[in-house]
Amino acid sequence: MTDKTASPSDDKSFWQHDYGHYSPNAPLTENLKADVAIIGGGYTGLNTAWQFKKDNPNARVVVLEAAVIGFGASGRNAGFSTKLFGLEPEMVLLRWGKQKMIDAHHYLKMAVAHTRNLIEENGFQSDYRHTGLVRISYSEMQLGRLKKTHQLLQDLGIDGDLKWQDKTQVQQDFHSERFIGGIYESDTGYLNPCKQVRELKRLTESAGVSIYETSPVTHIERTASAIIVKTPGGNVTADKIVVATNAYSRQVPDTRKLKTRQFPLWTYQVVTEPLSSDQWKSIGWKERQSFGDNRQMLHYYRPTVDGRIVIGGGDAVVYRTDPMDEVPSPMSWQHCEAHLKWIYPQLRDVRIAYRWGGPVSVNTDMVPEISFIDDERIIYSGGCFGHGVALTHLNGRTIADLLEGKKTELTDFWIVNRKSISMSSDTLSFLGGRAARGVLKAWDWWEERSLKSR
Ligand SMILES: Cc1cc2nc3c(=O)[nH]c(=O)nc-3n(C[C@H](O)[C@H](O)[C@H](O)COP(=O)(O)OP(=O)(O)OC[C@H]3O[C@@H](n4cnc5c(N)ncnc54)[C@H](O)[C@@H]3O)c2cc1C
Repeated sequence: MTDKTASPSDDKSFWQHDYGHYSPNAPLTENLKADVAIIGGGYTGLNTAWQFKKDNPNARVVVLEAAVIGFGASGRNAGFSTKLFGLEPEMVLLRWGKQKMIDAHHYLKMAVAHTRNLIEENGFQSDYRHTGLVRISYSEMQLGRLKKTHQLLQDLGIDGDLKWQDKTQVQQDFHSERFIGGIYESDTGYLNPCKQVRELKRLTESAGVSIYETSPVTHIERTASAIIVKTPGGNVTADKIVVATNAYSRQVPDTRKLKTRQFPLWTYQVVTEPLSSDQWKSIGWKERQSFGDNRQMLHYYRPTVDGRIVIGGGDAVVYRTDPMDEVPSPMSWQHCEAHLKWIYPQLRDVRIAYRWGGPVSVNTDMVPEISFIDDERIIYSGGCFGHGVALTHLNGRTIADLLEGKKTELTDFWIVNRKSISMSSDTLSFLGGRAARGVLKAWDWWEERSLKSR
C-alpha cells in the first residue's frame, strides 16, 4: 500500500485522507417533500435515516449534509467503540445516581453490540477489531483512583468484562516502564471511522434514502402543517426533522434553544508512520488492544490495520470560532508525539505522519441527550463527548422509534427528552470551558508531579 499521508497542514483527518478518492453526492437543487428530513450526515443522521427507512419502506427520507459524509466527528474520531458514557463514572454517579449509572451502562453495552452486529451483518469494510481496551495508570495517585473506579463498578455490578491487571502484567503486555497497573475491558472494539461512516452511507442509500452533500441547512421554518428546511439550492418540506449536527449545533439556524444546549470542545490526534516489525516487537502490544489512561485530560492509543499508532487527547480546547472551521493546534500535536515517546522511548525516531483535530459536543451536565426541540416534530441529539461512536449508532435506532411515536425500551432511556442545563451565553460557556480545562490540567499535574519529565 502506498503511504497516502500528506502534509500536516492538510485540513482533513488522517482517516479521510487515507480513504483516498471519494465522490460526494450532488447537492440539493430542487424543492422536495419528505416524511423525515435529517440535518447532518454523521453516524447519528445516517443511522437514524437507515433505521427509519427500514421500518417504513414507503417513507421519503432525506439527509442533508453541509460538507461531505465523513467531514464531522464521525470521519475524524479515534474509532473506539466503547461503553464510556459522560465524563467519568464517578461524576455520573454523583450527579445522576446509581440506577441511572447502571441504565447508562446497559444502554452502552447494547450500543457496542449493536454497532458490531451492524458491521458484521452488512459486511462493512471498516476494519473493525473487537480487541478490548486497557485503562492504564502512570502514577500511584492515578492508580489509587483507578482501583476505586474498579471497586465502584464492581459494587454496581457492571464490571462483567473487567479484569484488574497489575504492574507485571501491563509491563509484560506493553513493554513500557511507565505503566504501573490497569483495568482490561474486553467488550470494546475499534474501527476506521471514515470507512464506517461511508459504509453507513452505502447502506442507507441502498435502503432508498436520498442523501445530499454540500447542502448546508441555512433556514428552518415551522408552519402548522410542516417544517421547511432550506438550503442554498432547494428546500425540503417535511413532517418531521432530526437535527443530527452534534458539535455543530450552535450554528444551526432558527433553533434558538440549540444555541445554549452544548458547546464544541476541540481535541487533537496524531498518527505515526507504519512501524517496522522490529519496532512493533520492541513495544510488545501483541494483542493490538487499544489503551487509554485515567488522567483527567486522558490520552488514548490504538493501532491501525497498517501498523501505525494513533495517539489523541492530553488536552482539549474551547474556541470562539465556528466549529466548521479547522483550528490547528501545534502544541496539542507536539504534546501527543512527546507522550508517545515518553511511554515508548524505543520509538524516539518514529515519524509522525499526520496531525488533525475535531470538535466533540459537550454540555454542562456532562451526559448526552436526545430531545424534542419546541415540539415533537424536531428531534435533536448531542452532548456525546468523545464517546459517541457506539452511542450514536444505537441513538439512531432510538431516534427512529421516537419519529415513529413508539414507546420502547430505548425511548425510555433517561437521556431521552431529559431537561438539560442550558448555557445562557457564549461568553460564559467559553470562560467556563477554559476554567474547567485549567482545573483538569492542574489535577493531572498534581497526580503526575512525581513522574520523570516528559
Ligand atoms: C477528534 C475526535 C476523536 C473522537 N474519538 C472518539 C472515539 O474514539 N470513540 C468515541 O466513541 N467517540 C469519539 N469521538 C466522538 C464521536 O466521533 C462523535 O460523538 C460522533 O461521531 C458524533 O456523530 P454525529 O453524527 O452525532 O456528529 P458528526 O459526525 O459531527 O456529524 C454532524 C454532521 O452535521 C453536519 N452539519 C453541521 N451543520 C449542518 C447544517 N447546517 N446543515 C447540514 N449539515 C450540517 C456536519 O458537517 C457533520 O458532518 C471523537 C470525536 C472527535 C472530534
